[in-house]
Amino acid sequence: MKPVWPTWLPLREDLRELSPYGAPQIENVIRLNTNENPFALPNDVVSALAERVESIAQDLNRYPDRDAVRLREKLAGYINQLSGTNLDVTNVWAANGSNEILQTIFLACGGAGRKAIGFTPSYSVHPLIARITGTEWIAGSRDDDFGINISEAVTQISDLKPSLIFITTPNNPTGTATSIDDLATLAECAGRVGALLVVDEAYAEFSQIKSAVTLLDKFPHILISRTMSKAFAFAGVRVGYLLAKPECIDAMLVTRLPYHLSALTQAAAEVALDHASTMQDGIQLLAQERERLRSALGDVGWQSYESAANFLLFSGFSSSSKDVWKAFLDRGVLIRDISLEGYLRVTVGAPEENDRFISALTEIAK
Ligand SMILES: *Cc1c(COP(=O)(O)O)cnc(C)c1O
Repeated sequence: MKPVWPTWLPLREDLRELSPYGAPQIENVIRLNTNENPFALPNDVVSALAERVESIAQDLNRYPDRDAVRLREKLAGYINQLSGTNLDVTNVWAANGSNEILQTIFLACGGAGRKAIGFTPSYSVHPLIARITGTEWIAGSRDDDFGINISEAVTQISDLKPSLIFITTPNNPTGTATSIDDLATLAECAGRVGALLVVDEAYAEFSQIKSAVTLLDKFPHILISRTMSKAFAFAGVRVGYLLAKPECIDAMLVTRLPYHLSALTQAAAEVALDHASTMQDGIQLLAQERERLRSALGDVGWQSYESAANFLLFSGFSSSSKDVWKAFLDRGVLIRDISLEGYLRVTVGAPEENDRFISALTEIAK
């Protein structure tokens, strides 16, 4: 439904038909709709966080470190350890979730008269921020199995000459990963047309695929967006970060708001990074559980897609997506209607949450 705005409100014409982004937040249900890590923070991390907050509380009368240098150093160290790279603070930017990173990129490199392309179905926030920043959005497509046809993509990009190219890998909502060779081809193409390739790696830690950060040395036109919200089990704190060449990071500093990242957020993220491996203890179990959900979906004759992340896209039900979504909710299980008719997405939860999903599934598919 189109929102109705009062005539006295000078809201931009091009925003009048938008409604705020967001999945339903419902209490007292099993929440398998926003791809969070279902496991609570380990006790030693909780204590370390409390201690750290107490130690900085007296200084909260002051603005935080505007450039979040300590946090960015720690993020560089974390990525270097994962990917064998040699990044330092000049290669990293941090913000309130990777959504803010994405917005900062659009503010710096998008805007009126500029184009951005992504390959759908993919993360719906990319076209949303394009729209809010007045950037023209072009939806490229994916194959029937949700992979990207790279040679077609290269032709399309060469014709359109966008400023920004978006690839989400593993892709949300499909779970599909894009190989490092394909990313290299796209990065080369981005360089040729004067674009930046933005690789959204929100789910990278769940996947075995090589990160696009390993391409930064060879291709200066890549921006890699990551988050602590998913595998890192830290969604409530809101920390996302960008990995790129120093020149690109400097461009982000131009469009960021002053003191955008609170001292509490910076401190909390630093503590979490000091406990990076405990924070991600659940990843392997989630991968096993994902495969358990896949077989359960197969057992009732529904289809799910191979996923390198902590969620599954599924189809094969005979009612509408909305009705099936509602049938799960009626059984206390909240999944995601991604507005793609015939498909739904479920986040992998803790084992007992997945049991609840499976028993609802068995009833609904009967
Ligand atoms: C969840 C998600 C994000 C946003 O995460 P933040 O919480 O803002 O860091 C970004 N990209 C994709 C593809 C996501 O699924």
